[in-house]
Amino acid sequence: IYKDLNDVNFPIEKTLAGIQAAKDAGIPSIKINVVVKRGVNEKELIKIAEHFKGTGIIVRYIEFMDVGTSNGWRLDDVVPSRQIVEEINRVYPIEPLNPNYTSEVATRWGYKDGSGELGFISSVSEPFCKECSRIRLSVDGKLYKCLFATEGFDIRQMLRGGASDGEIEQAIGRIWTTRDEHYSEIRTEETVKARTGKRIEMSYIGG
Ligand code: SF4
Repeated sequence: IYKDLNDVNFPIEKTLAGIQAAKDAGIPSIKINVVVKRGVNEKELIKIAEHFKGTGIIVRYIEFMDVGTSNGWRLDDVVPSRQIVEEINRVYPIEPLNPNYTSEVATRWGYKDGSGELGFISSVSEPFCKECSRIRLSVDGKLYKCLFATEGFDIRQMLRGGASDGEIEQAIGRIWTTRDEHYSEIRTEETVKARTGKRIEMSYIGG
């Protein structure tokens, strides 16, 4: 399942070894993002929670999103977070926790037995655009104001062209203050189908 999902035949053992290496190196607050796709990995969610329960590592379940053009997104493939919360709660009772800070993307839940924390990122069923404070830099140096943006602002050109730190700072400020993105609030199956043209892939901009 893992190899199918990552598209590049990457084995789960290597990922788990990487997570363990991060833990052994003392990296605090490790979070594991798990995108949930109906009919693909929804039966694994309890097992994943079990694997990390009591380790201090936080699993965050993410609703499947229509980022980019390569993942064949359909609304029917989205498993709403509330369903996952209910499923986990039936096996391992959990309760909501307060956010760590304003605009935190994941809703925090904790095991009632105190053995750890889970997160739920409900971008499709409960969009949080109004509080979104994220800006993303792609691997080729473009700034994107939204995961679903089609155009990025070319910071690399400024850097290579000798722009000063102050000029770059001002440019980022201008980009941010013109921001009115709220894609997830207006998403429907129809708006997704109607989107054409180039779209940034998740692998270019991280999560
Ligand atoms: S759709 Fe865009 S604006 Fe809305 S939460 Fe996601 S990244 Fe932020």
